[in-house]
Amino acid sequence: MAKGALDPKDWDSFKQEAHRMLEASLDKMQAAEEGRVWTPMPEAMKSDLKTAVPQQGRSPADVRAALEQMLPYGVGNTHPRFWGWVHGTGTAGGILAEMASAAVNANLGGRDHGGIYVEKAVLDWCKEMMGFPAEASGLLVSGTSMATIIAVKTARDKRLGIATRQRGTGATKLVGYCSAQAHSCVGRAFDMVGLGTDAVRKIPVDDDFRMDMAALAQAIATDRANGFEPFFVAGTAGAVNVGSIDDLAAIADLSAAQDLWFHVDGAFGASACLSAAQAPLLEGMARADSLAFDFHKWLHVSYDAGCILIRDADAHLAAFSERPDYLAPATRGLAAGDFWPVDYGPELSRGYRALKVWAHLQEHGTEALGAAIARNCAQAQMLAGLVDDAATLERLAPVVLNIVCFRYLPAMGADADGLNAEIAVRLQESGVAVVSTTLLHGKLALRVNITNHRTRDSDLSLLVDAVLQTGRQIDGEAS
Ligand SMILES: *Cc1c(COP(=O)(O)O)cnc(C)c1O
Repeated sequence: MAKGALDPKDWDSFKQEAHRMLEASLDKMQAAEEGRVWTPMPEAMKSDLKTAVPQQGRSPADVRAALEQMLPYGVGNTHPRFWGWVHGTGTAGGILAEMASAAVNANLGGRDHGGIYVEKAVLDWCKEMMGFPAEASGLLVSGTSMATIIAVKTARDKRLGIATRQRGTGATKLVGYCSAQAHSCVGRAFDMVGLGTDAVRKIPVDDDFRMDMAALAQAIATDRANGFEPFFVAGTAGAVNVGSIDDLAAIADLSAAQDLWFHVDGAFGASACLSAAQAPLLEGMARADSLAFDFHKWLHVSYDAGCILIRDADAHLAAFSERPDYLAPATRGLAAGDFWPVDYGPELSRGYRALKVWAHLQEHGTEALGAAIARNCAQAQMLAGLVDDAATLERLAPVVLNIVCFRYLPAMGADADGLNAEIAVRLQESGVAVVSTTLLHGKLALRVNITNHRTRDSDLSLLVDAVLQTGRQIDGEAS
């Protein structure tokens, strides 16, 4: 029996606590359809958290009880009526995988151990799912934000040369492009790799919220004429506001003709390739130089887990590899191994994300994951129909994927934006549903994002009724 300084004093009673914790965690998942969606943490619990750093430890039973007490106070994204922002909904199986990875406690920075082979296997699956060639490289990361930084850094170094890593970017004229609907992670990545957010040109979108290709071509020409050096374009596969998908095939053609690095932000939308009905919308995605997507959104792996795929494996390695002597590769022993993730991203110590992704794909398979995605898209169409049928609701964007944006139309003269913002807050506070809001054509919209394998059709009818009732109520209070 392990008797290390921090091992349990009494393994048997520790195991009892562990089993109770597992039971409570599974009970939470089993009851995910019940009760409130979002439950704010009580004030008393918040203030209890403000203590000095503990000097004396507590018993495993005490700690288990404290952990159990916190289970209800999440975002609410395990509930079938959570449709705010873009959140995955988690699975019971995720609990098992997290236990196994904690038990191994592997550092996935490199070396020759099981976790490295699991990550390699997962990356090979990613390439296969996304239509990338087997020679492409990739890395599991915290999410699409990090994946985008890795993509932009690789593209930058390929364009400016590897010496940039020592000399810095200096006064570059590099510029890149994305649509005005693209996620802020693109600008963030430009900032982080020293190119600055001004170097990202936001291209206007058409009526379907897709990047206007003529405007993109024009922006590139204007930049070249003014002495800038276009090098990067990000297409979005599933934009956060309305779920629109840029014309990825057209961007691929233009990138080839203009010698640009073609990146795809497919944070949640890329997953739709697993559904036969939605896959055609993503045509051109597999031609990207880099693709960023998340496992923790529409694929429901527990937070956090994302992926970057990069077609040019040499460029990827060149942009990140720099091993000091003490990490020099060996040919035998634990320090050997031909895939050291530290050579492909900014982190040395890395957790064992690969295991939960591997277990998730093993448990569910791509067919069930794709079917859940197809169902969400059908539900979005159903919700759009309910909105269109209601005289006091107005839909504000086409529904191509899984996001529906609409608003309640108040009595004449009332402040529609304020009223709809209040509807969103009241739905959240009442625990009935979580939707978020966004601005479309200057109008505040209720935004329902369905990346939820637990949502039942009846939940969406319930939402529409709740919006109508809350809207009328607020309208009544105002008059
Ligand atoms: C969520 C999201 C991101 C950011 O991804 P993280 O995993 O949160 O870092 C980027 N782009 C789009 C389109 C997203 O939906």
